[in-house]
Amino acid sequence: MRDPRHDVLFTPLGIGPVTAKNRFYQVPHCNGMGHAMPLAHAAMREAKAEGGWAVVSTEECEIHPSSDLAPYVEQRLWDDRDIPALALMCDKVHAHGALAALQLVHGGAGASNLYSRETLLAPSHQPSRHGYPSQARGMSLHDIGEFRRWHRAAALRGKRAGMDIIYVYAAHDLTLLMHFLQRRRNQRTDQYGGSLENRARLLREVLEDTRDAVGDRCAVALRFATDELAGADGLELAEAKDIVAMLAELPDLWDVNVAPWDNDSVPSRFAAEGAQEPFIDFVKKATSKPVVGVGRFTSPDTMVSQIRRGVLDFIGCARPSIADPFLPSKIETGRVDDVRECIGCNICVAGDMTISPIRCTQNPTMGEEWRKGWHPERMPPARSASRVLVVGGGPAGLEAARALGQRGYQVVLAEARTELGGRAGREARLPGLAEWARVRDWRVGQIRKLANVSVYLDSTLAAQDVLDFGAQHVVVATGCRWRRDGYGRSNGYGIADCVGNPRVFTLDDLMDGRMPSGHVVVYDDDGFYYGSVAAELLRRGGCHVVHVAAEDCIAPWSQNTLDYRHIRRRMADLGIKALVSQAVAGFRGTTLSVADVWDGTRRELPCDALVVVTARTPDDALYRDLRSRASAWPDAGLQSVRCIGDADAPGLIAHAVYAGHRYARELEEPTGTGVPFRRHFHTA
Ligand code: ADP
Ligand code: SF4
Repeated sequence: MRDPRHDVLFTPLGIGPVTAKNRFYQVPHCNGMGHAMPLAHAAMREAKAEGGWAVVSTEECEIHPSSDLAPYVEQRLWDDRDIPALALMCDKVHAHGALAALQLVHGGAGASNLYSRETLLAPSHQPSRHGYPSQARGMSLHDIGEFRRWHRAAALRGKRAGMDIIYVYAAHDLTLLMHFLQRRRNQRTDQYGGSLENRARLLREVLEDTRDAVGDRCAVALRFATDELAGADGLELAEAKDIVAMLAELPDLWDVNVAPWDNDSVPSRFAAEGAQEPFIDFVKKATSKPVVGVGRFTSPDTMVSQIRRGVLDFIGCARPSIADPFLPSKIETGRVDDVRECIGCNICVAGDMTISPIRCTQNPTMGEEWRKGWHPERMPPARSASRVLVVGGGPAGLEAARALGQRGYQVVLAEARTELGGRAGREARLPGLAEWARVRDWRVGQIRKLANVSVYLDSTLAAQDVLDFGAQHVVVATGCRWRRDGYGRSNGYGIADCVGNPRVFTLDDLMDGRMPSGHVVVYDDDGFYYGSVAAELLRRGGCHVVHVAAEDCIAPWSQNTLDYRHIRRRMADLGIKALVSQAVAGFRGTTLSVADVWDGTRRELPCDALVVVTARTPDDALYRDLRSRASAWPDAGLQSVRCIGDADAPGLIAHAVYAGHRYARELEEPTGTGVPFRRHFHTA
């Protein structure tokens, strides 16, 4: 049973008129499904409620067409016809004894109105942030009255949908209510501008409106940013303290964090568990109301400490609840070892950013609860007593072996190296990526508990070994290698001077400890985290590093994971110079010639070594050998051979884990020939 030290996490606490059964609070988080996929959304939230969260929140919910967040897919309560979609979620959440919370939003100048074509609204005239390059209108007093009316109506609709907690949202620099607080966005001279009291007037009024509208049955939560980390240009801690003092007892719950979003959901490369504490710990001292805050909490001891030290009353989680929807129930039942800890990679955030359903590196079922019927904890039992051989112990092979083992198959995992983990373990040794090892550690921990899964290290298998083994099913998860020839998006024929050049290095070399020295250029044609991580490793190892990017900025895809601004700052702090929009024109001796892709300007860089981060080659030789010997399968008793993960097509660790999980789920299951998942169809 549970460790008595964790008891405090399971004490109920009142929030205004409602009571949360424990201290686990899933704070609002976007998911790319929203109003477009209400059934998928409700099922995802239900998984959290079933997993023991006392409160399960929506993502942002637009209150009016003047706050249309298209193309991002969030929730919507523009009129009564939007109620049923959210009622679906409330029913599912309530079925497990949890409270449902609704995060109302008006995005102000941060909305897009691309879909609604309404005029954007702001405290004073200012440029828009999304959508067309247009401006938002400074609101008249009439507009302010209308906004209050819309907010109130949306709160009432939320209550009718069955919500227990209604949010007033002034955080992340994403909402009109926060924009009124910010001096740079609010340059009004009337009663809503100027002094802090005036700038906070609308927030106070909306809190009062919401309580008046729904407070008899619903709690009113205030989501509030305590700092923008932008110095005097932004909302600062001192001002936030005054606002908290002014509004201290008005909401039933304070939900506090740091703005903007990339300072809140900071990737693990740039912030550790509990990093927000110095910015929010004052709030509990200023109010008698409960306080929830986040910090990518996965350790129950840290959670207990937050409560015991009076920092928080509720342990707020978005990402930890995505990586493991059953985190509370595992702690409650003393199964802390089974908690699948978030690795802080923000692939979940990338779902929202790329306007696609949420996915998670650690939890391959995230976003698949409804459309594939995947439960985060349960798997269909094995259909037979078949033996399955998994070749390769990286993320794909480990997850396949674990999940097949959970189903009850007899599984053997063979790994060429003397350690498990594949790229998850290798990349975890690069600067800032230590938490990637959790992908390996959780799976290895689970496999150890399964008597029907055996692991063989130091076992490089060739096709004949596999045939001799006598498994009915073989899954090849042998991974990939970084290319050394410079081939990639920008160099369809490779880079001539790379081939056979001993001064050219790959990420595999660096991970294997083969480190260059002197002047090193990292040529990044990949655009995600690898280039900057290599640059950081080399710089910390004493090299002079230039980060040369083919694109117009370094690491453009990292915008989707909220890494981008942190990467730029870290590169600047380390003195790593970025050269963007460059093509490699030649690499002779210790001179690298690069040329600007737009104006052709050439530059010669001193270069003792060139690290090429361009593309990867699947290690699929074993799979191809096995396929070419298909005629020998029947005698070997072999029924199927599949190739998954990076050996199939190199991608993110999330892709490899998903591929392993999917393989295990689908083995010997009947599969149709149609679309392999359910979709939403609109009938009217
Ligand atoms: P993925 O991300 O698809 O899981 P990784 O590269 O992380 O891929 O892991 C692949 C693993 O497979 C590596 O640990 C590698 O050592 C192992 N491997 C590669 N070839 C063989 C082989 N022929 N036999 C056994 N293991 C192999
Ligand atoms: Fe955590 Fe990454 Fe999963 Fe997001 S995608 S919840 S950051 S492990």
